[in-house]
Amino acid sequence: MAYDMPATAFSPSFAICSLWWEILWERVSTAEFVFNRTSSFLPSPNCPLCLSAVDYLQHFVFSRPCKFPVWTLIAIASITVHTIWRARWAVVFDNSPFFPNVVAAKVVTAIHRSHDLNST
Ligand SMILES: [Zn+2]
Repeated sequence: MAYDMPATAFSPSFAICSLWWEILWERVSTAEFVFNRTSSFLPSPNCPLCLSAVDYLQHFVFSRPCKFPVWTLIAIASITVHTIWRARWAVVFDNSPFFPNVVAAKVVTAIHRSHDLNST
């Protein structure tokens, strides 16, 4: 079976690998990191997006309200890919038809279920 997508389509670039290395070693250039080394470059160590908190590593990567919408969209994309993957293999193993509207409804249900699990 031939695939339309080249095998290297999802290979991370050097910049992505370098950023992950910096995050894992806590060397990423957050505002706090830069301010602590060269305070003349930045006026404060606070997050340049929300200005409400020091831009330390966890804030840089995850913190609300700056990053939460991005992580939410990634979670929705992940749920969608997983649901399509399951429906695709249900065609093979369960002889189930692949109806895009049914798959889309399952995506919506899975998103609601994920939201309910995360809000309790
Ligand atoms: Zn922020």
